[in-house]
Amino acid sequence: MKLFNYGTTDVGLPLTLIVLSRAQVFDPAIIKKQNKCVLLINNGIHPGEPEGIDASMLFARDMLKKHTLPKNVVICIVAVYNIDGCLNRGLSRVNQNGPASYGFRGNYRNLDLNRDFIKGDSRNTYALEQIINTWKPEIFLDNHTSDGADYQYVMTLIETQKDKQNPILAEYTSKTLSPELYRRMKLNGYEMIPYVEGMRGDDPDAGIVGYLETPRYATGYTAQHNIISYITETHMLKPFDKRVYATYDFMQNLVAINERDAKLIGRLKQEADEQVSGQKTFALNWELDRTKADTITFKGYASGYKTSGVSGLPRLFYDRSKPYTKIIKNYNTYKATITADKPQAYIIPQAWGKIIELFKLNNIVMGRLAHDTTLNLQMYYIGDYKTAPRPYEGHYLHTDVQVNPTDMAVKFYAGDYVVYTNQALNRYIVETLEPQGVDSFFAWNFFDSILGQKEGYSAYVFEDVATDLLTKDPELRKKLDDEKAKDPRLAGSASAQLNFVYRNSPYSEKTYLRYPVGRIVAPTKLDLK
Ligand SMILES: [Zn+2]
Repeated sequence: MKLFNYGTTDVGLPLTLIVLSRAQVFDPAIIKKQNKCVLLINNGIHPGEPEGIDASMLFARDMLKKHTLPKNVVICIVAVYNIDGCLNRGLSRVNQNGPASYGFRGNYRNLDLNRDFIKGDSRNTYALEQIINTWKPEIFLDNHTSDGADYQYVMTLIETQKDKQNPILAEYTSKTLSPELYRRMKLNGYEMIPYVEGMRGDDPDAGIVGYLETPRYATGYTAQHNIISYITETHMLKPFDKRVYATYDFMQNLVAINERDAKLIGRLKQEADEQVSGQKTFALNWELDRTKADTITFKGYASGYKTSGVSGLPRLFYDRSKPYTKIIKNYNTYKATITADKPQAYIIPQAWGKIIELFKLNNIVMGRLAHDTTLNLQMYYIGDYKTAPRPYEGHYLHTDVQVNPTDMAVKFYAGDYVVYTNQALNRYIVETLEPQGVDSFFAWNFFDSILGQKEGYSAYVFEDVATDLLTKDPELRKKLDDEKAKDPRLAGSASAQLNFVYRNSPYSEKTYLRYPVGRIVAPTKLDLK
């Protein structure tokens, strides 16, 4: 066992990684050359859900004492990820059955670290992404505790949503790895069920829904890296020791299968990376297909309503003296709602430094323009978007983004970054850079400065200039007349017509609403330094 410190967290402490390596090789490059798998276990992203912290310590101790470390798997453990939250002790999870005290969900900046993987607001995120991109695990596990309905299971499981996961990996996880984990856990006395997210609130009888972990989540981010990912969710109302031992058993089973299938898993990861390097079209958002469901056996407790001691009104309760087994519907088919074809390359102006920083952290291969260069390429104008009225995780998220692709010549500067889309991390590149991505940098407000207009005109002055423009440019006059014929609101508004002329004049602000990352769609020779 060797401990490594990475970066720092928002509370000023380094993030410690525990590495368990039977061959005592602790160099990630050599480990890859030896065709061993790396399994990364993360704990305490939500410190109020601490089973994984305890279970990992027990697990590491037992493997070291009993000399049972696997031959083909190097196990990396982040004992406590949200150190800042873990130091903030209390009883903030009021519905949870122990332990006696535990940490708080938010970190020192009150961020939920399990929403921070794309926007990277916390230093914790930089440290963990450095670990992921240094050790390049094939499998990732994030240990949690659930909320929600009551039922008989101690542990529920989220796996990377299969329709969002790389199809080569999805084939293996859905047909081999996941069924085997369910089977083994049942033998251990901890029968599992997929995470119970109700189709209708806390009522599992109405069916459960597969969890969609978009890239803001740990396992959504690792899915972009073609890392097979699981989240354990132990049930909050079960005794703490059982929750810890269930987590322990899950890790033991995951390691055992990884040990057996290490060569296969390594090969599948490589194939998935190659497939993504050549992939042309990428999903940017997904939605549940409510017409598709299969069935699943569910062991719950009868629920009913009784009179509330607080309000005197009816309240929900689960009757643990009435367990039942039912067949319920399991909705777990997602379809892509928006897709984008990748360009040959993206050009990112160096002004957008945080993106360059995040791309470097993720080992994205980038070139830099050798000289100032005017390029004919495709730019997006942001046509429309909605913005949340209140902040979420420190941001006013944009959704329903519409883009108008426009071919134009744009000048870029020496040192601007070129990102070719022939990389294993294409999903991360495209899903963050395409503004319509559910967790794109645009959605997370990285580009809000382009949404404000810098210059304008005084109507009484511009009226004369615009009249002159229309007289000298019959084509512009025709364009205006055509638009007026199509759009009665334009025809009836003097100011809208004046603005139309402005927008189509040489005075208009070309960078207003123009998404600054360029898309090179045609073969273009670039001089890079
Ligand atoms: Zn959690």
